[in-house]
Amino acid sequence: KPVVVWFRHDLRLDDHPAFVAAAATGSPVICVYILDKTTYLESSIGGAYQWWLHDALASLNAELEELGGYLLTFEGRADEILPEIVRQSGAASVFAHHRVLDKERQQDQHISSLLSEMGVGFQLDWGTTLRHPCDVLTKERRSYKVYTAFWKVLRSLGAEEPVDVPEHVQFSAHGDDLLKDQRLNAANLRSEKPDWAAGFRASWRVDSHAAHQALDVFLDDHCSEYATARDHMAEEGTSRLSAYLASGLISPRRVWSEVHKRNEKGKGAEVFASEIGWREFAHYTLFHTPSLPYESITEKFRALPWRKSAHDLKAWQRGKTGVPIVDAAMRQLWQTGWMHNRARMIVGSFLTKHLLINWQEGEAWFRDTLVDYDAASNAMNWQWVSGTGIDAAPFFRVFNPTLQAEKFDPDGVYLKRWVPELSKLSGKVLFEPWKASEATLRAAGVTLGKNYPQPIVDLPEGRDRALSAFKAL
Ligand code: FAD
Repeated sequence: KPVVVWFRHDLRLDDHPAFVAAAATGSPVICVYILDKTTYLESSIGGAYQWWLHDALASLNAELEELGGYLLTFEGRADEILPEIVRQSGAASVFAHHRVLDKERQQDQHISSLLSEMGVGFQLDWGTTLRHPCDVLTKERRSYKVYTAFWKVLRSLGAEEPVDVPEHVQFSAHGDDLLKDQRLNAANLRSEKPDWAAGFRASWRVDSHAAHQALDVFLDDHCSEYATARDHMAEEGTSRLSAYLASGLISPRRVWSEVHKRNEKGKGAEVFASEIGWREFAHYTLFHTPSLPYESITEKFRALPWRKSAHDLKAWQRGKTGVPIVDAAMRQLWQTGWMHNRARMIVGSFLTKHLLINWQEGEAWFRDTLVDYDAASNAMNWQWVSGTGIDAAPFFRVFNPTLQAEKFDPDGVYLKRWVPELSKLSGKVLFEPWKASEATLRAAGVTLGKNYPQPIVDLPEGRDRALSAFKAL
């Protein structure tokens, strides 16, 4: 009897405990992926992540082919498709990794009981996090709410060891006949009319080799400077591993183990490991607090009088707020599917504080436009940046976009790359063109309201409005 490996957010063979466990049975293996939109937030998969998925699935298939197997891909409800695959193939058991979003966990429970009624096993391992989320608990067996306390324990425990690709795997030869009418048409994942993804293609190579290469380049060339370079938006100071981690083309445990093998003592390695720790904290928090993507963690913030302004929201989404560093960041996101972490914090604070628009609008826009979209990291970071209850981040901390730009993009290199209309401005007015004299703007070819927008909000007024809304609670 064959066994099934069900790939989900783990589209790789390296460090894949479920694949290893299936191979160890000695039975022929059937490898499947099911695109099930009902398990995504709002039952839709983001456009950018969908673009990424197309090649990520091809990468997994290529890895399997090297071992003599292949990937079967389906589209539809996994709780219908998977039991049907098992029924038709006569499989004895299904192997997969745990997921943390509530909808996915509920589905796994449901599928587990369906399979058990059929006398089929469903074995779930932890393969997308460093550890089991219940390994790090307080003395009272509660989950940590503050990152530093969580990190202290995780740091001392370390990660589980990654597992290698098994040497011998026997694949089932009968997969081809299974559920032919529910196969995923991969071409639908990438529509080229209109061809909105040219910037994506120029920015990313989507396969597991590229993931390992990105890690190598980072560890060889950037890790030692990471502690300071990571905040500078114009520099290639970070690893750009997030999308590979989100789709599982590389595992966090492999990243963790390589960092510790090669850069054990450096400050950069320590800071980098703690960023992998933030990813872990996001998954951990979503596991222990399933409402994370749906409501503000601190109850009183659920009553915040958020503004509803379709005009301001659209200006923010399209990078047309008139606040240059915000616009640069939002255009980087739109064109490449990725945004620098410092920039994410700036635009998040601007949306939720200066514009007083609900963090959930930002969460939804990022969900649609990020190639590294991850349900846990996105929701946690939006709640962190808006100060609505994650970690110790207070609501009253408002990032000043001008000061942030002056500090983390002092020469405006990042800004001018994405907002070329302002490329002839320099000095402080590059960050605040509304303060420039008529003559300066004219000399730089800038006409506010014509070829670059007037700011949609007065920054001090926006800040005060947010703080009074907060104080009124
Ligand atoms: P590096 O600096 O090289 O960090 C290495 C890895 O650590 C990253 O690849 C990522 O997996 C992890 N990491 C780093 N910072 C964080 C963080 N703050 N939270 C969680 N993990 C982190 N990251 C996502 O992967 N998916 C998201 O959907 C996402 N949404 C975000 C939304 C907002 C509002 C903010 C402020 C941050 C968000 N992040 C998200 C976190 C972070 O911005 C990205 O992980 C990071 O910019 C990716 O670039 P990198 O791989 O070069 O990071």
